[in-house]
Amino acid sequence: MELTKLEAWLKEKGEPHFRVKQIREAFYKKFVPGFDAITALPAPLRGELARRFRPLSLEPEQVLVSAAGDAVKASFRLKDGEVIESVLLSLAAEKWTVCVSTQVGCGVRCPFCATGRKGLKRNLSPEEITDQVLFWGQYLAKEGPGRRVGGVVFMGMGEPFMNYNAVSEALKKLSDPDYFGIGQRHISVSTAGHAQGILRFAREFPQVNLAVSLHTVDEEVRDKLVPMNKLYPLRKLARAMEEYLRATRRQIFIEYALMEGLNAEEKNARQLYEWIKTVAPLKYFTINLIAYNETGGKYRAPAREKVKAFADFLEMLGASVTIRKSLGNDIRGACGQLASANLKGKK
Ligand code: SAH
Ligand code: SF4
Repeated sequence: MELTKLEAWLKEKGEPHFRVKQIREAFYKKFVPGFDAITALPAPLRGELARRFRPLSLEPEQVLVSAAGDAVKASFRLKDGEVIESVLLSLAAEKWTVCVSTQVGCGVRCPFCATGRKGLKRNLSPEEITDQVLFWGQYLAKEGPGRRVGGVVFMGMGEPFMNYNAVSEALKKLSDPDYFGIGQRHISVSTAGHAQGILRFAREFPQVNLAVSLHTVDEEVRDKLVPMNKLYPLRKLARAMEEYLRATRRQIFIEYALMEGLNAEEKNARQLYEWIKTVAPLKYFTINLIAYNETGGKYRAPAREKVKAFADFLEMLGASVTIRKSLGNDIRGACGQLASANLKGKK
């Protein structure tokens, strides 16, 4: 929500300054559904606020719950009619993580990703990013007491570092104790390998987790899979990752989506291991493997045993590996499946 506009309006009306704090706390701490629910405010003021201001800059259109109940996907209509999606994930019992979008579509255009297929429409504003989290906060508050968003991952539609300024504003608001108050270590940003963004991020947000979507260490294959590789080839990416580790003393999460016939063989695992070692010692990385999620293209996920074998092989070499659970496949809410509703017919 746009609190600055609201603040100016309250001031003009001569309302006492503490009103802003009351409203902020009602929305960001109690996650009230609307102004009407802020009982601390005088009734006429509540009514006027409700008529003049919208708590959310996006309009929820559809909310789908996965069969297992561990993923919920919402599509939102923005003020200019564009549509984005956001997902609420339950990674462990009662631990809720929100996956946010940062752009309408994505200009990187990875051919295996549903978001990339439509290209970039526009950047989201900081408010449009944080309002996705506000929406899920309200959703959880309605579901039951004590339920709240514990983490945020920037892994929805869009390449976060191609919209760096808005992402930076959103990160500040998410971790601000006066707003969402989510610890920076519970927030992760995933990039397709924007080397320049990684360097800036290292300086400005050393506590926020960084994930790099690598998928392959073969330059030619990566040029096709992640076209941004032409701008930031593996050598440049490696240097940025090295610098990130030096500056932050953190770990990097490497995302690796396994696709049959492309990057899922034992030799690919060995190449990945060799490449990582040229960047920094193995202990600085966690490799998140994810079996490709269906998006209607020509790519296929390898058999489950093959994913396991890929993981085992890397572990045998001493790497720390996780096989990412794919949540929300049945609601097309899994990684890479997010695309605006008006695209659905084309998938
Ligand atoms: N643009 C950023 C963040 C959003 S994508 C990035 O690419 O990192 C979030 C993750 O989902 C990325 O690791 C991306 O490579 C992965 N992904 C995209 N399409 C996928 C698919 N069809 N199956 C599995 N993972 C996919
Ligand atoms: Fe964009 Fe990430 Fe999808 Fe590539 S995988 S098209 S960078 S959202």
